[in-house]
Amino acid sequence: MQNAGQVRFFYYLCALINLIIIDVETKYIFVTGGVVSSLGKGIISSSLANLLKARGFRVTIQKFDPYINIDPGTLNPYEHGECYVTVDGHEADLDLGHYERFTNIQTTRANNVTTGRIYQSVIDKERRGDYLGKTVQIVPHITDEIKRNVKLLGNTGNFDFVITEIGGTVGDIESLPFIESVRQLRWELGNNCVCVHLTYVPYIAAAKELKTKPTQHSVKQLQEVGIQPDILVLRTEKHIPLEMRRKIALFCNVSPDAVIQSVDVPTIYQVPIKMHEQHFDELVLRKCGVPVEGEPHMAPWLHFLDKLAAAEKTVTIGLVGKYVELQDAYKSINESLLQAATYNDHKLKLKFIHSEKLTPEAADEQLGELDGVVIAPGFGQRGIEGKFVALKWCREHDVPTFGICLGMQCMVIEFARNVLGLPEANSTEMNPKTPDNVIDLMEEQKSISNMGGTMRLGAFDCILTPDSKAAKAYGSTHVSERHRHRFEFNSDYRERFEQAGMKCVGENPATHLVEVVEIPEKRWFIGTQYHPEYSSTVLSPNPLFVDFVRAAIAYSEEKGK
Ligand code: GLN
Repeated sequence: MQNAGQVRFFYYLCALINLIIIDVETKYIFVTGGVVSSLGKGIISSSLANLLKARGFRVTIQKFDPYINIDPGTLNPYEHGECYVTVDGHEADLDLGHYERFTNIQTTRANNVTTGRIYQSVIDKERRGDYLGKTVQIVPHITDEIKRNVKLLGNTGNFDFVITEIGGTVGDIESLPFIESVRQLRWELGNNCVCVHLTYVPYIAAAKELKTKPTQHSVKQLQEVGIQPDILVLRTEKHIPLEMRRKIALFCNVSPDAVIQSVDVPTIYQVPIKMHEQHFDELVLRKCGVPVEGEPHMAPWLHFLDKLAAAEKTVTIGLVGKYVELQDAYKSINESLLQAATYNDHKLKLKFIHSEKLTPEAADEQLGELDGVVIAPGFGQRGIEGKFVALKWCREHDVPTFGICLGMQCMVIEFARNVLGLPEANSTEMNPKTPDNVIDLMEEQKSISNMGGTMRLGAFDCILTPDSKAAKAYGSTHVSERHRHRFEFNSDYRERFEQAGMKCVGENPATHLVEVVEIPEKRWFIGTQYHPEYSSTVLSPNPLFVDFVRAAIAYSEEKGK
């Protein structure tokens, strides 16, 4: 009898341990896309992560991109928009910017993997002889490497949920190995896996009808490669009636409550709310066997949305750059400005100014109505003269001005030319033979010949002068911000700049590289060698952007008087 009791006790103990183990097991959510690209898989993934985090879960999002480049660092912004930079110095897809802005959780190199990286790693292993004479193939070697990367973050034990966004569209040749890996993982992970498929329901204006056929075809395509989606998210311009959603559920083998619509909204930051209204987060929890308790804590997020909706006055900011026709080229700057304007209770009116077209004659007209001006980052000579025109005009008219990376370097060059009286001052990036190399290649960059991943990348500490405007904006003299550049302020000129009124107020404590310059007697004239836009999130806007927009509003009010 005693033995039976012990056996039962042992049995219960095992069951309990099992339960605990299952409970702490990481859940994997895959997000695929169909019909067309640019449907916003990144926003849907971010919204889900936002809701799960607001429920107290530890979440991370990663993106698998099907292109051959090792990372997007060598890509032109015309290809995939802005290159985002993680704290650990990875040049990443811009979706990682969305992930951070929506979740306030930092990403790393492990959060963005390309086909190129997968192949590079497999080929390295082959060269080392790791495959012991076997023929190296897409299945299982490439797919195993993909699966290893998918589980890398989950295996750290730091996350309850790992959301994996598969770039591209189902049916593309490029994404097949990724989709095949998802199929295999689904079997291996069992209940710990949920597949979300995002599709498009077009509205045919002439027929005044929404069409479900592309969604049916896209799901069929996914089924053909062995994946049955658990949840469908339908992107649409118009509300999809319940009947139609039921029809989609029927044709696609999905339960009716798992067909969610994502109707266009005025701001992407409303998407988590819209998804929660349709129980997206609950569905995901239920599908992977996690008990649904209470509601997500959305108060801070709703506070931001309330401010966004309530703002009546407008602040007008100009962004001077050469990619103004591309809405994604300066994504993080646009979002940082929007966050900053919102927390300053203003609507943001962003005016893009093409730096190639900005001449001294056009400056009054182009810049006259602005309350603040941002000089964009960038590479190469194209459009650079327009940045100097803007900077001279802004400095002389004392308009709040924010130079970021190349924008800061241009600030330095313009000041050298027009204040220090060095007419040929330049960056050696633009003119290697300039007699006044006020911006020059960093010492450690001089021997580098490979372009990919070799810039000064990632977060570095910066010490700010206590009474500087920058330090006051941050409320701190110790900050850490992300970099992506090869050139730097040439410290040989530092004294001349400082004597003439442009102060070097931010410095790297280890290398003494100049990271921030400002003209203290101007309203707000600050340049940062780093990119503060990468660290600005909805719930934690970057203080420098907030302060810049505050100065722009004050200037606008002054002008109005
Ligand atoms: N082209 C400049 C450099 O490499 C600035 C880079 C940037 O703006 N991100 O230093």
